[in-house]
Amino acid sequence: MRKALDNETTGRVRACAVFDLDGTLARHYHRRKYLLQDNPNWKSFFEAANFDPLIETVASVFHMVRMSVPIIICTARPEKYREITERWLARKGLFVEQIYMREHDGDVSDVEVKREMIKKIREDEWEPVFIVEDRDDVAEMWREEGFLCLQCARTDFKGFQNLGSWDFSDLE
Ligand SMILES: [Mg+2]
Repeated sequence: MRKALDNETTGRVRACAVFDLDGTLARHYHRRKYLLQDNPNWKSFFEAANFDPLIETVASVFHMVRMSVPIIICTARPEKYREITERWLARKGLFVEQIYMREHDGDVSDVEVKREMIKKIREDEWEPVFIVEDRDDVAEMWREEGFLCLQCARTDFKGFQNLGSWDFSDLE
């Protein structure tokens, strides 16, 4: 009899932990200026990810978790920023098994992009033990899908888009 965690493929399911990047491991507030313009500049926003400071507290959790299970990254950053992302992770000493990214540019919300990733994660025979995520709406999606989501911050993306009046100076 197959174990409960087995999927529809070979049954060799591997436990893992999932970490988000922006707002979870990468402090991205310095890039908000590119989205606060009349015409939000997403290209500059993502390219500036190269300069994100590491969120040390969550990185500590990352290293503790990695002693027990492999870690995969689920980020809604577009695929074309994979190299920037991989280099940043390497520079920060964050070693991961796999990185799932947004496949196409477009208006699909981060929530739906990550909901779609669940299928790929399962096809690749990963079974997430838990997910670390900062955004309210994405955390809600993970929970709706039956996962244990550990929310490391409370980011309201609508709020993030209207940060003009917010003061994050202490975080930068
Ligand atoms: Mg995030």
